[in-house]
Amino acid sequence: MRISEKLSRSGNLDKKELVELLSSFDGKDLEIISEEAIERRKRFYGDRIFLRGLLEISNYCKNDCYYCGIRRSSTCVKRYRLDKEKIVSEALRAPSLGLGTVVLQGGEDPWYDDETLSWIIREIKGRAPEIAITLSLGERSKESYEKLFESGADRYLLRQESITRKHYRMLHPESQKIEDRVRCLMTLKEIGYQVGAGFMVGSPFQSDEDIANDILFIKHFGPHMVGIGPFIHAEGTPFEKMADGSLEKTLLILGVVRIMNPAVLLPATTALSALSPEGRDEGLKMGANVIMPNITPRKERKEYNLYEGKPDVKLEDEEHIKALVRHLEKLGYKVDGGRGDSLVG
Ligand code: SAH
Repeated sequence: MRISEKLSRSGNLDKKELVELLSSFDGKDLEIISEEAIERRKRFYGDRIFLRGLLEISNYCKNDCYYCGIRRSSTCVKRYRLDKEKIVSEALRAPSLGLGTVVLQGGEDPWYDDETLSWIIREIKGRAPEIAITLSLGERSKESYEKLFESGADRYLLRQESITRKHYRMLHPESQKIEDRVRCLMTLKEIGYQVGAGFMVGSPFQSDEDIANDILFIKHFGPHMVGIGPFIHAEGTPFEKMADGSLEKTLLILGVVRIMNPAVLLPATTALSALSPEGRDEGLKMGANVIMPNITPRKERKEYNLYEGKPDVKLEDEEHIKALVRHLEKLGYKVDGGRGDSLVG
C-alpha cells in the first residue's frame, strides 16, 4: 500500500513514513491526499472558505531572521509604521469589505508597546465588536500577551519556523531561540488565544526529516490554525540567492497537515500565490480553507516585502475582494464573511 493511502485511511503517519512520503511522492500521491484532505475539511467546515483582512502595520523589526525581507539589517527596505489612529480606521473597513477578521501583522517593532496596542484593540472592538482580532507581532512577554488578550485580541499567529533546533539555528541569529518561540506558543494557548503555528517549506538547509519534525510538532501541539507557505528568496538577506521552495511539496504538506489535523484553519497563503497564479486554488484543493486578502494601504503595502514578487493586486480592495468571492463561488465554495472561529477544541 502507498504511504499516501495509509495516511488517508488512518489519518496519521510516524516520522519514518513522513520522511519517505516527502522524499518520494508523485502525482498519484497528491491526488490521493487531495481527495482525503477535502473530505476531512468538509466534515468540519463544509464548503466554507473564510476571509481575513491582512493589515501590515509596520516593517520595522528588531530581529534579523536570515530569510526575511524586512529583517533589521536589510538596507533595501523603506521603513514605515502606521500610527494608531490609522490602524483603527483601516481595520474598521473590514466589515464593509465583507471580512469578519483583521490580522494585524508586523515586524517586532517595540514602538508598539502594550499600551498602544491595547488602545488599538479596544478601539476596534468598541466600534466593531463583531470583528475578530488576530495579532501576528512576534515574541512578546507573558504579561504583554495577557494584556492584549484582556483588551480583546482573539487570536495570535506565531510560526515555529523550524522545531529542529539545529535547523532553527541556521535560519536565525544565535540570540533568537526555538525554546523562546515554543514558550511563547504555549503561553498564548494557556492564556486562551486561538493560536496559529506553522513553517516555511523549502527554507535553506531544511531536510525532509526537519519537515517531518514540524508536521509532528503541529500534531502534538494542536494549534487552531496552521500557516504553511513556500520559502521565497528576499533581496537584502543572506538567503537572497537561495532557491525558492517547491509548489508541489508545499501542496503535499498542506494536504498531510489537513488530514492529520482535520479541524484546523489552514490558509492558502500569499506566498503560495507568489509562486504561481493558480497556487492559491491548488492550496484549496489540498484542504486549505482560509484566504487572507491584503488590506494594507497601497503606499505601505509596497514596502512590506517579506520576499520577492509578493503579489500586489492592481484592483482597489473592494473590487479585488468582490472578484475573489465570485471566483471562489465559481469553484463551488461558500464564502463566509463571519469571524470564522476554529473548530479545534
Ligand atoms: N514578526 C512576525 C511576523 C512575521 S511575517 C513574527 O515573527 O511572527 C509572517 C511569516 O512570514 C513568518 O512567520 C515567516 O514564516 C514568513 N516569511 C518571512 N520571510 C519569508 C520568506 N522569505 N519567504 C516565505 N515566507 C517568509
